[in-house]
Amino acid sequence: MAFKKLSIIEPILKAVAEEGYTIPTPIQQQAIPLVLQRKDLLGCAQTGTGKTAAFAIPILQILHEQKPLAPGIKTLILTPTRELAIQIGESFVAYGKHTGIRHTVIFGGVSQLNQTNALRRGVDVLIATPGRLLDLMTQGYIRLDKLQIFVLDEADRMLDMGFIHDVKKIIAKVPAKRQTLFFSATMPPEIQKLANVLLTHPAKVEVTPPASTVDKIEQSLYFVNKQEKPELLIHLLQDKAIVSALVFARTKHGADKIARILQRYNIRAAAIHGNKSQNARQDALADFKNGNLRVLVATDIAARGIDIDDLTHVINF
Ligand code: AMP
Repeated sequence: MAFKKLSIIEPILKAVAEEGYTIPTPIQQQAIPLVLQRKDLLGCAQTGTGKTAAFAIPILQILHEQKPLAPGIKTLILTPTRELAIQIGESFVAYGKHTGIRHTVIFGGVSQLNQTNALRRGVDVLIATPGRLLDLMTQGYIRLDKLQIFVLDEADRMLDMGFIHDVKKIIAKVPAKRQTLFFSATMPPEIQKLANVLLTHPAKVEVTPPASTVDKIEQSLYFVNKQEKPELLIHLLQDKAIVSALVFARTKHGADKIARILQRYNIRAAAIHGNKSQNARQDALADFKNGNLRVLVATDIAARGIDIDDLTHVINF
């Protein structure tokens, strides 16, 4: 099936082709027509399935068809982490480049000035993490009374990260009459309850069974004493087949320690976690993505949704 079959308009078809996409992924095939019909959507899907385009493409199309656009934020996309917010912003740049729809991304950990300047110039689509959004709403920079479409991305992750109260506060400020798209990789009871409150007669799309592992991934397990783990890691990294490795550590301190040990062995490594500045996090991620770093050691802030091309290995330390 081609994108054209989904009744996508020319400016978006062109952008999608320029991205090199030829066939819509299963979630895109299912979700795009439903969103274009202005239905509420409950999407059970993980990152990596093409979920972002599944909501970004129809949103861009709905807004494009309303041109000339009235002022005000018409779509809000709420996502748990800064990295995901940036990635969603990049998707809007890519798919929306021929539409003239304006978007901006806001998240914490950086100065708010660029963000408030962008808001002042006017945006149609706002991509945000919950904390900074609430902060800027309280300061009077953001009003959501013109909102038409509300996207809650990675809802279960919001819960895990303790954002659910912030999310509920934001929901209280969005118009009751709206279209809601709700995405979660898993559906624990609290998330199901939130979905029931937020959605009206939703269509359901599910692409992979919750929390499944991709078949293509080959997995191995090493039984080793705690003290010997760094040595084993260094031993494994002697293998040149490990071109790039994402190493998960349980704690921020542990992540720093592993990165330091690897550096001592002349392995290009850096750590990212919640105590690093946003700039340090972005720099490390950029260096890892472009191959300057061989190993990125991360706590679970990077555990889900980070899109890295050609990652060869993941190590759960
Ligand atoms: P996501 O699940 O939204 O994070 O997307 C995962 C990756 O798939 C991203 O690198 C997208 O650029 C890519 N992608 C999304 N849709 C398509 C498609 N229809 N064809 C090829 N690649 C895609």
